[in-house]
Formats: sequence, C-alpha cells, structure tokens
Amino acid sequence: PKEKINILFLENISDAAVQQFSNAGYTSIKKLNGAISEAELIKEIKNVHILGIRSKTNITAAVLQAATKLQAIGCFCIGVNQVDVEAAAQHGVAVFNAPYSNTRSVAELVLGASIMLIRKIVDKNKAAHEGKWMKDATGSHELRGKTIGIIGYGNIGSQVSVLAEALGMKVLFYDSETKLPLGNAADSKSLKELLQKADIVTLHVPEIASTQHLINKTTLAHCKQGAIIINYARGTVVDLKALAKAIESGKIGGAAVDVFPIEPEKNGDSFTTPLQHLPNVILTPHIGGSTQEAQSNIGIDVSTKLFNFLEKGISTGSHSIPALALPPQEGAHRILHIHNNVPGVLSSINTLLSKNNINILGQYLKTNDGTGYVVLDVDKNISKNAIELLRSVKGTRKVRMLY
Ligand code: NAD
Repeated sequence: PKEKINILFLENISDAAVQQFSNAGYTSIKKLNGAISEAELIKEIKNVHILGIRSKTNITAAVLQAATKLQAIGCFCIGVNQVDVEAAAQHGVAVFNAPYSNTRSVAELVLGASIMLIRKIVDKNKAAHEGKWMKDATGSHELRGKTIGIIGYGNIGSQVSVLAEALGMKVLFYDSETKLPLGNAADSKSLKELLQKADIVTLHVPEIASTQHLINKTTLAHCKQGAIIINYARGTVVDLKALAKAIESGKIGGAAVDVFPIEPEKNGDSFTTPLQHLPNVILTPHIGGSTQEAQSNIGIDVSTKLFNFLEKGISTGSHSIPALALPPQEGAHRILHIHNNVPGVLSSINTLLSKNNINILGQYLKTNDGTGYVVLDVDKNISKNAIELLRSVKGTRKVRMLY
C-alpha cells in the first residue's frame, strides 16, 4: 500500500517531483530544505523506503548500513558521485538519476554563444557598458551558411546538430563511435578534417582518458584561421593555456567556455583561468544545463524511474543493481530478489518455491559484475514464511514482494 511507503526528500527537491509522488497516491512524504549531516541522516533514514537527494548529500556506506528499509535513492540531478554506488549495490538499493534532462538547455546556449561570438558582441557589449561606441561590421558574420563542427555526437551533440541546421548552418560531426547523422549532418572522417572545415567547433564528449586535452596546441593548429571554440562539456577536454595562446595570436577568433579543470566549490570562491581578459571570450560558471526547465525535467525523469522500480520492479537506469525492463504480468504476484552474483542462487530460489508448491509464471534475471537481480512472477500470494525462506538463500541482499 502506497501510504506505507515512507519518502524522504532532502535539499529542497523541485515541487514538480514532490507533486508527482502525491499525485500518484503516496502520502507519507517528508521534505527537508537543506542537505543534512551523515549522523542526522543515519537517524532519519531508518524507516525510509525512498530517498530523494540532489548533489550535496553524501550517501555513505554507513548511511546505507542504517537504511534497512531503503529500496531506492533518486538523485534529482545529473550525476551520482555523491552516492557510494557500490555500497548501495551491496544493500540491494537501486540508485537513479537524470543524466539527460538538461540536454536542450546546453544545446540552446551553444547556439546562443555561437551567435554572440561570430558577431563579436562580447567586446561591443563591454565597450557600451564603459561608455564607448563601437559600431563596426568588420569580422561580424551570420551563422547561416557557416559550418559547425560537433565533436561528440551524443545526446547534446546531436541536439545541437538539429538546432544548428534550423538556423541554416552546415553540420559536420566527429564521434569515436559510428553515429547515424540527423537531418543533413555529415559524419567527418577524422577530427583533423572537422577542424580544417569548421567555422565553429563545439565539444560534447565525456571526460575520459581519450578526451583529455583533445583540443591542444597541435589540434588548434588544424583549425581554420579565426575559428571559434566552444566547450560546454568538461574542463579537461581543452588545454586552456594552448587555447589562450591561440586567441592571443589571432588563430582562434573567439571562445565560449563553461567548464574548467578546477572549478570553485561555491559561489563567491575565487576563480582564475588563462582565458580571463582575452577578446571575444564568453566565460560562464558551469551553467550550461542550469535552467528551470531542466530542473523540472529532472523531477519528472527521476520520479518516473522511482515509480517504475517501486511499483513494477523495473530497474532501467539504475547505477547499482542491474537494469531490467519487465513486461507486466496479469494475475501474478511479483517478487524482487537482489543477490550476490555467484553460481547457485537461482537454483536455490527455484527449489525453495517449488518446495512451497508455488508455480513460477515468469522469471527475469540480469546480472552485472557483482550483483544479480531476479524478478519472479508467481501464481499465488506468497506467504510471509516463503519470503523469509527466500531471505535465507545464501547470498541474498534484499527480497521484496511487490503485489
Ligand atoms: P553522451 O554520452 O550522450 O555523448 C557523448 C558522445 O561523445 C558519445 O556519442 C561518445 O561516443 C562520444 N565520444 C566519446 N569519446 C570520444 C572521443 N574521444 N572522440 C569523439 N567522440 C567521443 O553525453 P552528453 O549527454 O551529450 O554530454 C556531453 C558532455 O556534456 C559530457 O561531458 C557532459 O558531462 C557534459 N555536460 C555539461 C553540462 C554543463 O552544464 N556544461 C551539462 C550537461 C552535460
């Protein structure tokens, strides 16, 4: 019953999310405004089934140890670094987030920055604020007909592709994986070819070894004279010293950078980068995805994942337990069993159920490195006793009867 599910929301999670839960019939919802300490959380979490956090609450192994009723954690944000995902897996707790909810916000700002930079608005704006008149068309261009080179054609890169074409740009992309071009976009044979042809180069790759300083002295030398570089991906992808030099020399005609190798922890902390005070450069404090719309999309996305897990056992998108998408089963009772991924667990479960004269209508198993997740649809309401027996199977982390 939904009223027995205790939900704890921390860090002032968006009302859109809270509303989703009350609309869905969950009544036991506690909402706290800030993040709370580990000690406080250990006290608070004892009877909690669903925990909602943002990026400032650390979910440690000690918190998870105390969270005996916890089924899932919803991170109402982009990353899950604040959660000890391995400990969550050990306790059979699913961990969800919303990795792609701010895609559109980033893509829009890339186009916005492109227009500002190709028109050299930044310096004209600064001059006007300083009481200087800088009316001049030299070096100012339209985006129409120009080539945008998109490095990393994933969720954001491909969205940029669609918006750029709508503005009449030619789209060239480069990705380490084979990607289907959207619209009239063209797949570039190499990074070098893309850099040689693009008027605007925009980066949308993850922070991994192969993308470390992808834009550096050598690759900048391949760029067109006066090309614009945009980095809204991750700070390590561009060698900022090399970029600063290229801007000073005039090789690169402008840049928009939102992410930095070292970023201040909080507002008001000091911040330095080699790009400060260079002409035609837009610097922003990692706000590429920060919009009200993204926040509300995050609320909807994470709530939906939590409902699917709570009510159907669907674990798609979980970082801790294996992802399992399940068909509904009419006239059955569904049991979730999360266990150590070792041989023999499934056969012990099946032996136990058959000993209890319970017929299995459907069975779904998915494992990852250390964790196994099996969902059983059985024909009878399984007794409390049988659930206890399932809990006794060696290697069991969590058992839950859904309906
Ligand atoms: P994604 O995983 O959907 O796409 C990344 C793409 O990069 C994939 O297609 C992948 O194949 C490709 N790729 C990986 N390594 C590559 C390489 N060496 N060369 C070329 N392509 C490579 O990711 P996404 O959601 O589109 O996000 C892209 C980036 O934007 C990430 O770094 C993410 O952290 C960042 N991001 C920043 C903000 C912000 O606020 N500035 C917001 C959201 C995302």
